[in-house]
Amino acid sequence: MTAIEIRNAQVYDPAQKIDGEVKDILIEKGLIVSEIKSKKKKVINAKGNILMKGGVDVHTHIAGSAINSARLLRPEDKTFIWKKTENTHSGTGFSCPTTYLTGYRYAQLGYSTLQEPATSPLKAKHTHDELQEIPFMRKQALLLMGNNLLAAQYIHDKDFDGLTDYCSWMMDRTKTNGLKLVAPGAYLSWIWGGKKTLPNSLVPKVDVTPKDIISGLEKTAEALNLPHPIHVHLNGMGYYGNYESSLAEMKVAKSRMHVAHLQFSSYGGNSWGEFESKADEIIKYVNGNNKITFDLGQITHDKTTTLTADAPFEQYLSFLIREKWNARDVEFEHGTGVVPIHYHKDNPVNAVQWAVGLELALLAKDLSRVCLSTDHPNAAPFFRYPRIIYWLMDKKSREKYADESHKAIADRTSLYSIEREYSLYDVATITRYAPAKILGLKDTGLTEGSVADVSIYDLSRGIEEGFSQTDTTIIGGDVVAVKGEITASFSGSLTHHKMDGENKKLEEKLDTFFKNYYSICLSNYGVNL
Ligand SMILES: [Zn+2]
Repeated sequence: MTAIEIRNAQVYDPAQKIDGEVKDILIEKGLIVSEIKSKKKKVINAKGNILMKGGVDVHTHIAGSAINSARLLRPEDKTFIWKKTENTHSGTGFSCPTTYLTGYRYAQLGYSTLQEPATSPLKAKHTHDELQEIPFMRKQALLLMGNNLLAAQYIHDKDFDGLTDYCSWMMDRTKTNGLKLVAPGAYLSWIWGGKKTLPNSLVPKVDVTPKDIISGLEKTAEALNLPHPIHVHLNGMGYYGNYESSLAEMKVAKSRMHVAHLQFSSYGGNSWGEFESKADEIIKYVNGNNKITFDLGQITHDKTTTLTADAPFEQYLSFLIREKWNARDVEFEHGTGVVPIHYHKDNPVNAVQWAVGLELALLAKDLSRVCLSTDHPNAAPFFRYPRIIYWLMDKKSREKYADESHKAIADRTSLYSIEREYSLYDVATITRYAPAKILGLKDTGLTEGSVADVSIYDLSRGIEEGFSQTDTTIIGGDVVAVKGEITASFSGSLTHHKMDGENKKLEEKLDTFFKNYYSICLSNYGVNL
């Protein structure tokens, strides 16, 4: 691995409060160093270009059974074709790209760390298999536990030691990094015929509420000292008028909660006809409560694919927009649904949704608690990040876009009244520093000794164009992309939070549970890494 000297870059690194200072960045043996010792080095002249740490995506659906269902359901999504090159495989897919293509496109954007936010325990082997195939990236996955029958029974019995042992064992067996709750209790309720689940609804058979589930798993995450807080997709996500139930569930947090794709949970109105933004109410609460971090789930008006473990919502959505869908039931662990969607700028609901995400980002006071996301591919494919950055940085551009969209933006959101424009430092915060910190990563910036994940951008091409394709992407000290061309081929790394998986007494209990309820036996369960 050749050492690299990057000269005269304009550096943005919130971890060290560096805001545009022109500096040289030195890389040797995959790390940032203060001095290069080897005689041989590659020199990159970055004069006039900006430099940031590699991007970190805290919430992107890139591997496992749900995205695979989406690939199968949507042959018409294969409008984007990547041809094989000397260093790359071929690939296809616009909103549901194949595994290799996912890595290539993230590398072009200057990203280096990705979190798959939802794997079911039973499908964890598949998730890891696909994560492994995504080139270059540092990858990890969260474990779906918010509708797990056994977890709900432990919570009902107020057996938090039992719940903690079970989660520890499950995370060890599935090699995951944290706990994900998707509409806690909603799927368990739905499979027994329950209707829309609210924060205080009693889930049939297990007699717990979504609030009980959130509270129980939050206590567990803290007891296990997990680096990442519970990662919650709130009940009511995607429905009009959901902001009150969103607030009620966020208020359960006693220590830490990461709220996924908050845009989808910030709506007012008593019908689709009255659909309006409640971003102001939601962000007021978040600004005043530093226990909450969130990612955006920003919409662009694209033809994309929704996929979520909130299967009841997907059933509703497929009827609402008259689209095909598929659903999967993963035994007593959770469900999944997939529905294609085309967000239109001239549709009042989709226009307001677009503004809600921007309002949240622009009204947030503490950006170290905010992460850029599109809940890829739910609100938009991830490679639309540069477009969103442009809207955040340029008031004129977002107002021009709003002028061309449905007038509901003017009538039912506060977007036009917001003057704020993001700086490059702000962009580095929501795409690097905040997500790295929230994931609990050791390296959040470019300090000496940290991993050499570095992105250089030429913004003289324009903000959207410049962020769409790095001048150079370096991951772990290797140059992986130059001006859009992929220049390396390696598989990146998979990490998980190491847990104690030794628990004979629990395994005896689980063995009986598996024999009674699972389609496989306990010894075939989980991932060997
Ligand atoms: Zn998601």
